[in-house]
Amino acid sequence: MRQLTQICFRCYKNYISFAKKYSTDSKQVAKISKLRNIGILAHIDAGKTTTTERMLYYSGVIGTMGEVHHGNTVTDWMDQERRRGITITSAAVSFQWNEHQFNLIDTPGHIDFTMEVEQTLNVLDGGVVVLDASAGVEAQTLTVWRQADRYKIPRIILVNKMDRQDADLTMCCKSIKQKLDIPPLCLQLPIKEDDGKLTGIIDILSLEKLIWNQSNRGKTYTRTRLNKSDDSKLYEDIYLKRMELVDALTEHDDALADAVIQSGSLEKVSTTLLTQSIHNATLNQKIVPVLCGSSYKNIGVQPLMDAVILYLPSPIERNKQFKCFNNNLCAKAFKIIHHEQRGPLVFFRLYSGQLTKGQKIYNIQQERSEQIGKLLMAYADEFKEVNEIDSGNIAVVTGLKQTVTGDLITSSNSAANNAKKSLEKYLKKSEKEENNLIEDLFGVGRRVPEPVFFCSIEPPSLAYASALEQALLELSREDPSLRVINNTETGQTILAGMGELHIEIIKERIKTEYKIDVDLGPLQIAYKETPQQTVKDTYTVEHKIGKTKHRVVVTFSVVPKTSTDLNTETERLILDKSQESASNLSNIFPKHLLAVKMGVDSALAHGPKLGCPVVGANIILHWLEIGRGTSETIISAAVTQCLQKLLMKSQIRILEPIMFLEVVCTSDYVSTIIADLSRRRATIQQVTTRGNNRVIHSYTPLSDLLGYAKDLRTITSGSATYSMQFHENQPMNSADEAQAIRSITGI
Ligand code: GDP
Ligand code: MG
Repeated sequence: MRQLTQICFRCYKNYISFAKKYSTDSKQVAKISKLRNIGILAHIDAGKTTTTERMLYYSGVIGTMGEVHHGNTVTDWMDQERRRGITITSAAVSFQWNEHQFNLIDTPGHIDFTMEVEQTLNVLDGGVVVLDASAGVEAQTLTVWRQADRYKIPRIILVNKMDRQDADLTMCCKSIKQKLDIPPLCLQLPIKEDDGKLTGIIDILSLEKLIWNQSNRGKTYTRTRLNKSDDSKLYEDIYLKRMELVDALTEHDDALADAVIQSGSLEKVSTTLLTQSIHNATLNQKIVPVLCGSSYKNIGVQPLMDAVILYLPSPIERNKQFKCFNNNLCAKAFKIIHHEQRGPLVFFRLYSGQLTKGQKIYNIQQERSEQIGKLLMAYADEFKEVNEIDSGNIAVVTGLKQTVTGDLITSSNSAANNAKKSLEKYLKKSEKEENNLIEDLFGVGRRVPEPVFFCSIEPPSLAYASALEQALLELSREDPSLRVINNTETGQTILAGMGELHIEIIKERIKTEYKIDVDLGPLQIAYKETPQQTVKDTYTVEHKIGKTKHRVVVTFSVVPKTSTDLNTETERLILDKSQESASNLSNIFPKHLLAVKMGVDSALAHGPKLGCPVVGANIILHWLEIGRGTSETIISAAVTQCLQKLLMKSQIRILEPIMFLEVVCTSDYVSTIIADLSRRRATIQQVTTRGNNRVIHSYTPLSDLLGYAKDLRTITSGSATYSMQFHENQPMNSADEAQAIRSITGI
């Protein structure tokens, strides 16, 4: 999938000069520079929820502190997160810290949620990665880190759980360097008493000791400057560490190196200068600042929030591509949730302009306007109504019925056109082709990943049918990568999604949020069927119902498309334009033609081999005779029957979904992984280098990737990660096809 963030650097630089032309006024800039849109990224159990909770407590948003194991934390919105320990819905939470506004966007950790992961990472300006001090970089940390790499998100790291006896900061820094392949810049050290109890931390930059007051749950802490006369060894040690830190930074910062040379020593560099230097190096992802603490024991959370302000960027330093809107409204819908009282709430990230209560907005992807209702800011579990929300910020909007996750909105159609023209003018032709920025921003229609798994879904009893329908409607709007298909023939409802866990979680959400215990059919791969041979025939259908005689005579041919056309669906019903046919077809009533179209669609919905959708077929209508009084239902049914017979004779081949699979691992596992992939019918494209890691790119059939997460973990001791997306549907050879049919039908 194409990403806004993947704009090539050359184009980006060019764009900045354009962006400067339209710089916003200074008051506005000052306001936006005080915003931080951040996400906390972590392995399960590293302490993401606890850390969030402490941030909300110290910033005054919540009056009492929740604990994860008590199950009362405000950001754990869903029961499921409490039970499974994974975050499923991204909740955005706003709070103030040191005259800055934080928007904390909850990011899902699981790779199955491609759409959701993508949308939330897309709107982050920075990330706080939480590690468990006794574990260092874990498998899932690697996954989220590599995902954040794709979006070029600047990050800082919190080494949490420093209170544990087996906490090891040095080991953590080593694992950051080795596994994440970025130099850690350790800014703090833990202070432990003789019995091993953690009481505070040392700030290396300011040479200060920070000790937390536990009588008010860590709300206050004291800062004391280290003193040579009190503890000369400690002072010398930290002093040395500070010099090492300056030295490490000069490698990435020429201005700092100059300052060091001018002052004649590493010692005299001011903390302000260092802070700026760390900020820049973090923004460019040359280094990662490492902080430490224990959120559970209330130590280190306030300096972490300070570090977010100091080192992570404000919206001004990011997302310059949206400047083409020239201070007009531009916002992206990244999340939809359903609120019991307020209805659907759409979360927007504003990139330029303002959003006002009751305003009319224009949805670029859907090419239509909508009226927004109320405008809200999200504070943990409550919403506050506001009249206006500014550029850079997160807005929660009620009353929108059409907008879905991923849509970009502006004030009007003409504003969208002007922005598009403005962007086109500033991007050179070659750059336009090289990156899909224009298509990404202004493209019409949903860009949702193709679902690759499906299963039938049924309510426990008929009494729940309409409630289930409503639940599925809401869930699929919230998560467009979930599709709901109604099979009119069998009356079945089909759920199609991105992965095994994706469907399983939907089932659980329906149970916990909607109180419906649904039955799911077996999970199946979304195969397709395609004809290989042209066939032509004429069929006559006659029915006598009551006194009416219904009669349809129809001649069709089924013509396979070329293999390159297989993955692009165009108009399927073609009318024969030859002289002979045209004289007959030009007389068809529009309502009869519509009935024919419905018959065609219904025949193509279920192929003769596995009942999967038929693709890659042109259906040509040559002749049609309809007896007087014949009903439209009979016409549709006759067409369907006729085509079903033709398809049976057209040598149907099964198409299977092929995934583009990217496995990231260390060099010692490359051959093991490739050997395993070969057994899975993979076509290896290439192996590239990303930092110290190798990336194996391949096209692999989805059916051979069932349970891959677990298998990959086993063969690489959890050190490799992968991501995959749908590539194309490919014809199977007869042996593989026979195997697939056996596994589906059991015959
Ligand atoms: P999440 O899965 O990343 O959201 O992690 P949680 O915040 O839910 O924490 C997982 C577990 O680790 C819970 O039992 C917490 O109480 C515990 N925990 C969180 N932070 C710390 C810490 O600083 N020290 C210790 N010892 N335990 C912690
Ligand atoms: Mg959590």
